Amino acid sequence: MPLQPSETAFVPFVSVQQMMDLVNHLGVERVLADLAAAIEADFRRWDAFDKVPRLASHSEVGVIELMPTSDGEMYGFKYVNGHPKNTGQGLQTVSAFGLLADVDTGYPRLLSEMTLLTALRTAATSAMAARHLAPAGATTMAMIGNGAQSEFQCLAFKAICGVDTVRLYDIDPAATGKCARNLAGHGLTVVPCSSGEESMEGAGIITTCTADKQYATILTDNMVGAGVHINAIGGDCPGKTELAREILLRSEIFVEYPPQTRIEGEIQQLDETHPVTELWQVIAGQRPGRRDARQITLFDSVGFAVEDFSALRYILGAIQGTGFYTNLDMLADPDDPRDLFGMLARAAG
Ligand code: NAD
Repeated sequence: MPLQPSETAFVPFVSVQQMMDLVNHLGVERVLADLAAAIEADFRRWDAFDKVPRLASHSEVGVIELMPTSDGEMYGFKYVNGHPKNTGQGLQTVSAFGLLADVDTGYPRLLSEMTLLTALRTAATSAMAARHLAPAGATTMAMIGNGAQSEFQCLAFKAICGVDTVRLYDIDPAATGKCARNLAGHGLTVVPCSSGEESMEGAGIITTCTADKQYATILTDNMVGAGVHINAIGGDCPGKTELAREILLRSEIFVEYPPQTRIEGEIQQLDETHPVTELWQVIAGQRPGRRDARQITLFDSVGFAVEDFSALRYILGAIQGTGFYTNLDMLADPDDPRDLFGMLARAAG
């Protein structure tokens, strides 16, 4: 969609309230399914994208990251933080916003909240990966870590993979209680559990989504049997992992973008040459996903810029003709493009 001059003065902005209204208007499961389709379509044209590991600024308590990419027509980036200590202060562990711009003019086309959108796109990506990797007929998922991302993960696996039962575990029972309450009425059988082992009973899919800025061992080697799919979400920073190294050595590992995942993912525990499969290759039909029923497949998710780009483009499309955005006056628009100072002077009156 080329920009018309009349469209360039204002930039649509989607606030947190407007994102909630849009998602509730469309239905959360529909949005998750639409996002998975949008992300899958972009993974299929992987070569079209500029790719670079995200730019991370680490501190002792967290990380602030910029995640850019472009397909040559549009450019996008997300600003996102990860601060596991924040929840203790009543703040989100992860908060984000993002921007889409027109490559031809460099003008922004959309500014959006991305805290909710990150939870939605992460869940959609997880379920999209599991559709190619999880054992056939897996309908029970262990959900370990019942914080901000967890309900989105559960609902994405329901909408996209046919999961009908989720077994919840968190070191904080209040988080499990919150997750169980939020999922009530969504058509899932929800089973709160009192240990990680208990949550994994009968589960063909295991999602780990905990937050801790250190090497943690949410899953030990003896907890994981043959024939499961592990969706590892929480290990996404240098020094921040969730799985015992021995599990990685027994698994077929699938990643988003190896140069970023080698720095941030579970595979930071492995040799740089350890083989991994890029998820886009499975989606494009170039590499097999799950090959047999006894294999352990592992999606070592860290979150990649292309997923945010797909999500922003989806939102740009979804808000057209709706009231779920505000036009922001964030671009100077002098009558004569070279008379920026004159515009300022005229504003002085
Ligand atoms: P959150 O702080 O809201 O929730 C984390 C939960 O993990 C908390 O309820 C906490 O009690 C629980 N927890 C901590 N240690 C545990 C343990 N040993 N066993 C069981 N539960 C434990 O965080 P969130 O927003 O839900 O994010 C969860 C993780 O996912 C974070 O590490 C975040 O960085 C990561 N994340 C990854 C992606 C991605 O694309 N891969 C995207 C978003 C978030």
